[in-house]
Amino acid sequence: MADRGIVLSAPGRVALEEIAVDAPGPGEVLVRIDATGVCHSDQHVIEEDGWGHRLPVLLGHEGAGTVEAIGEGVDGLGAGDRVVIGWKAACGECAACRRGEPRRCRRPPAAPGRLHRDGGADLTPVLRTGTFATRTVVPAAAAVRLPDELPVEQACLIGCAVATGVMSVLETAKVWEGARVAVIGCGAVGLSVIQGARIAGAAEIRAIDLDERKLEQARRFGATDVGEGPVDFAFDVVGRRATFELALSLLASGGTAVLIGLSPSGEKAELDLPRLFAKRATILVSHGGDHLPQEDFPRLAQWALDGKLDLAGMVTRTAPLDAWDDALHAMRDGDVIRTVLTP
Ligand SMILES: [Zn+2]
Ligand SMILES: [Zn+2]
Repeated sequence: MADRGIVLSAPGRVALEEIAVDAPGPGEVLVRIDATGVCHSDQHVIEEDGWGHRLPVLLGHEGAGTVEAIGEGVDGLGAGDRVVIGWKAACGECAACRRGEPRRCRRPPAAPGRLHRDGGADLTPVLRTGTFATRTVVPAAAAVRLPDELPVEQACLIGCAVATGVMSVLETAKVWEGARVAVIGCGAVGLSVIQGARIAGAAEIRAIDLDERKLEQARRFGATDVGEGPVDFAFDVVGRRATFELALSLLASGGTAVLIGLSPSGEKAELDLPRLFAKRATILVSHGGDHLPQEDFPRLAQWALDGKLDLAGMVTRTAPLDAWDDALHAMRDGDVIRTVLTP
């Protein structure tokens, strides 16, 4: 059967198309996508006319599946292995990697260029992954084996929302035991921040969202309070002026605001410098929680199996690939925590 994928071919034009997938080259793996979460970043890519990716773009970046073939020189992976695809593998060569900080890698390995539109044009996969498709090809470092016991519909969330949320707490902010935490925006990433804060042993976890349904969900995932209050860490999962300024305003002395959400281009916020100074506030930017797929995915998967991390509760809907449009709508309307497409 022909391969298919969801393609942004021109500004505002998205469709399910037949695509061509080449065999993997050296150091690459061909993965059959069994499950892929529908994340806000895909919506962002559509709204920002590619968000820096060259059109046509193959959407999707939160996938898990089965290795079908490996290229020359690939060690430790073989056909039949179940994997989660990571969009933030480290290159090992840039300045950050060389000084031993692969989590700050500036140049994750590029997409191999094995994906084409039916007519032959090269597809740019979102964040080097392209998982809204029946199959994709990624660098071997981006395919991380997962335990057999973890259902693939849950495992795929580790690839973006869960890694981003949990690792923003544990790696970017390094939240300490007993800390007070606020989470602004309680979608899938926000709920993962809440779970990360719970795992870190935060004493107080405040959920903030305009949608009552999300606050209720937040409590189920570990929020202890709803609404504003002074905190040591405030996570802005939305990325708008109002939410970021709110995050800063909630900080207690010595507090840290963490920007996670993607802002629309041109978005600006105001800083009250004397107040920032008086509070000795810290501002951090989280790129996907500075996660490192090879290190973090196995531990997140293990926490899920141990019952420490609730992935099952986050998958509120599964649907076939051609239901992508409904899935994006449901996400925008807040009707789901996560829809997982099963190509
Ligand atoms: Zn690097
Ligand atoms: Zn994402």
